[in-house]
Amino acid sequence: MKFAQIIKDGAVHLCLAEDGSLFDLTALPNAPHSLMELLSAGEELKARLAAIDRSGAPQYREEEVVYAPAVPQNGKLICVGINYKAHIGECGEKTPAAPVLFSKFSNAHNAHNADVVIPRLSERLDYEAELVILLGKGGRHIPREEALSHVFGYTCGNDFSARDLQYVSSQWLIGKTADGFAPTGPVIVTADSLDPSALPIELRLNGELRQSSNTSRMIFDCAEIIRYASDIMTLEAGDVLFTGTPSGVILGMPEGRQRWLKEGDVTEVTIGGIGTLRNTVRR
Ligand code: MG
Repeated sequence: MKFAQIIKDGAVHLCLAEDGSLFDLTALPNAPHSLMELLSAGEELKARLAAIDRSGAPQYREEEVVYAPAVPQNGKLICVGINYKAHIGECGEKTPAAPVLFSKFSNAHNAHNADVVIPRLSERLDYEAELVILLGKGGRHIPREEALSHVFGYTCGNDFSARDLQYVSSQWLIGKTADGFAPTGPVIVTADSLDPSALPIELRLNGELRQSSNTSRMIFDCAEIIRYASDIMTLEAGDVLFTGTPSGVILGMPEGRQRWLKEGDVTEVTIGGIGTLRNTVRR
């Protein structure tokens, strides 16, 4: 199943996404009315949803709605850096012995079709196509073999990065957590209908293919990321994990060919089985 969050009359509405249409669940008495409600209800509610009569729900076309972030905005936003070998090479980094974790704050959440504004202090904005995990069940010390059962679903993400700010110090934070630097969407695909271990992942800049890889090339796969993070901190339903980007970022190009993102540029992250997350850069 696929779910999307949209903005309607100033409020976030949860929708079921099917065949290019969005069914607004807010109007149905027996349906969950928020993503967090859906997460906490678990498998039983998903089964009920599958049987629900959609005819009572307002129906919108994908192209006519205003999207909200595809994930809840009240959980942790955990990111994994340098998690594809070819990306490590282009960044001049060493292969890490453990997942490189960093974070973004909730101000970084952003939506499909939304603008991403270049911070005043930056002249070097870059893109990073990433598979994003939404946890449906929390835990501490989650065994690797159980890790994927804690996942509610997956979506596309773009880990926007201001490279000049990222490398001001050894801490990447300020280059990663500017407002709107973590768009997700357009939909969450539930874990029962997607195998995260072999998904084609691409990024296009103004239509030109820049990143093209497969999630099978992650150094630390989704299960390992969840296991490792849960050994450090308690994970909760609603937490979001960005899983790292493949090669092809602007940072990895020879210096003379680096053309940083500018006003009007359009980034598109496409992941097989999920869809395409589109954003426009503004100055
Ligand atoms: Mg990243």
